[in-house]
Amino acid sequence: ELPPYACAYCGIHDPACVVKDNKDGKWFCNARSKTPGSHIVMHLVRARHREVTLHKDSPLGETILECYNCGNRNVFMLGFVPAQGDSVVVLLCRECLHLSKLRDMNWDLDKWQPLIDDRSFLPWLVKYPAEKDVNRSRQVTTDQLNKLEMLWKQDPNAGLEDLMKPGNTDEPQPALLRYDDGYHFQNILGPLIKLEAENDRKMKEEQSRSGITVRWDFGLNKKRVAFFVMHQSSEGEIKILVGDELRLKNSALKWECVGNVKGFTSDEEVALELRGKSASRAPVDASIGFSVDVVWKATSFDRMQVAMRTFSVDETSVSGYLYHRILGHDVSQQVISAASIPDEFSVPGLPELNHSQIVAVKAVLESPLSLIQGPPGTGKTVTSASIVYHLSKQSRSAKVLVCAPSN
Ligand SMILES: [Zn+2]
Ligand SMILES: [Zn+2]
Ligand SMILES: [Zn+2]
Repeated sequence: ELPPYACAYCGIHDPACVVKDNKDGKWFCNARSKTPGSHIVMHLVRARHREVTLHKDSPLGETILECYNCGNRNVFMLGFVPAQGDSVVVLLCRECLHLSKLRDMNWDLDKWQPLIDDRSFLPWLVKYPAEKDVNRSRQVTTDQLNKLEMLWKQDPNAGLEDLMKPGNTDEPQPALLRYDDGYHFQNILGPLIKLEAENDRKMKEEQSRSGITVRWDFGLNKKRVAFFVMHQSSEGEIKILVGDELRLKNSALKWECVGNVKGFTSDEEVALELRGKSASRAPVDASIGFSVDVVWKATSFDRMQVAMRTFSVDETSVSGYLYHRILGHDVSQQVISAASIPDEFSVPGLPELNHSQIVAVKAVLESPLSLIQGPPGTGKTVTSASIVYHLSKQSRSAKVLVCAPSN
């Protein structure tokens, strides 16, 4: 069992070698074994803390490090000058060095040196631990220490052992260009999708807005629709899509109701189609004092996980070609016979395709797997619709399944 003043990183607990961070009360040593700075300096920099106290059993006793003249406690500003012979020193901050009144003291201000040099405290102030102590201590890497600092932001009492607990700093593995099999693929992609879902939920749930003004109407289907503008907040833009679920509330009237976004008006109003029993009790005489928050749904992320599980246990869940292409295996290029390529690519009722859209449609019809990318507004949707049209014309019996992350 380590004493309370043991270094929170490595456990070293020689009183002469540790200092207390005044802000969080944690102790750190002045050793640097596997880190570019000593443990105390690494911590102060990462936590943006800057005040420390020496241990009561250290050679200088329990001392808060501060400027003798102005009381500045920022250790990154502090230095010392020798005074009246070499055995006594005075701590002064960088700012006070230039004050004329200090010029009159019997101090050699030109000999001022910072207390922290090369990312550790000067050893006469906080000793470097003995080599045997360093070797016996926990060997903390910069990477582990960074994770521990992150963890302390949520749980100040966390220890190095908590880093091993699943869910904490269970770093996901990076995506690969090649996977052994579907199981391997799922193992890597599953945790990434989970993280993405979590991030999406946080972003959506942060988008709640109060002080909303509502106007009421009915939709063509006779359903109650609320129209309102969701203003941008300083935290960032609102990303609300058609189909998203929102909860409209009026706390003063004790009413709330869930609905789906049906669209947007030219005045940038959201049209929310209400549903459920509360929809019929909508306070249509009120227009102010409403708030809106986003009801997050995991559906699309759940579907991704289900699809990947199927893919991992059943390699016939997709064609052999797709199976190997998804996993990044070498597959001979397949070309679909040119007979099914139409002469005319533009589709009746849709905008005329430009040259690069025609190239894209042709490429898709000729190969089993294609990727089309383009900035917003370059006509990916028209291109996709044209592809669906041609695919469905190729064979009356063939089925075309269209999937998209939004409608
Ligand atoms: Zn701290
Ligand atoms: Zn340490
Ligand atoms: Zn000062």
